[in-house]
Amino acid sequence: MNADEVRETLRERLASIEQRIVAACQRSRRRREDMTLVAVTKTVSAAVAALLPSLGIRDLGENRPQELWSKSAELPKDVRWHLIGHFQRNKVDRTLPLTHLIHAVDSVRLAEAISKEAVKQQRIAEVLLECNVSGEESKQGLTPNAVAEVAHKIAGLPSLRVRGLMTMAPFHDDPEQCRPVFVALRQLRDRIAPQLDSSHRFAELSMGMTNDFEVAIEEGATFIRVGTALFEGLSS
Ligand SMILES: *Cc1c(COP(=O)(O)O)cnc(C)c1O
Repeated sequence: MNADEVRETLRERLASIEQRIVAACQRSRRRREDMTLVAVTKTVSAAVAALLPSLGIRDLGENRPQELWSKSAELPKDVRWHLIGHFQRNKVDRTLPLTHLIHAVDSVRLAEAISKEAVKQQRIAEVLLECNVSGEESKQGLTPNAVAEVAHKIAGLPSLRVRGLMTMAPFHDDPEQCRPVFVALRQLRDRIAPQLDSSHRFAELSMGMTNDFEVAIEEGATFIRVGTALFEGLSS
């Protein structure tokens, strides 16, 4: 595929995803503007990722900091980068200035390192706590019981805003099977939010991927993270 064909493919796929998003919003009586599509570019080159802003997508996600660094150097500065994967403390200094939202904070130690660096860089770091709702051993994240405690502990850290929660549902052929996970994450948010200082605006739910984003929207997702549905077969 040449660049024009890749662009056309992306335009068609985006249109179809957008239709599905709008339909899910209608079914659940939600407003489209209350939900953000994050295009997960981890499987494609910077050249392919660079086609997205001109197609109206400015929120891009990477799960590895190094990949975020290298793509962000090649893409326009107005892209909002989302770090959606595991984050090591020794990468915080370089990643912080490039990143709009850190989705997968899973320990007090990591939040402390982010806060410390944010103070040093005189910026506000915005983070979500990753919760392993389903309890799958292969998945990262805090247990539902630990989330509230960690949220309280890190809410007092300087230059850090805890904006909400993130989860990855287990893969199921039938996305309906993921619904209880998304409901549980929403209920956790609703329980914790009133206990935190309102300056955190603890309102976000990052949940839903290619296989299950419609169900996630119906259950209140404010960020969906979509890779495969956009980029399958476009790896270079
Ligand atoms: C890769 C990835 C996604 C995108 O998954 P798809 O099924 O390809 O849409 C979403 N979230 C995280 C954390 C990922 O690593």
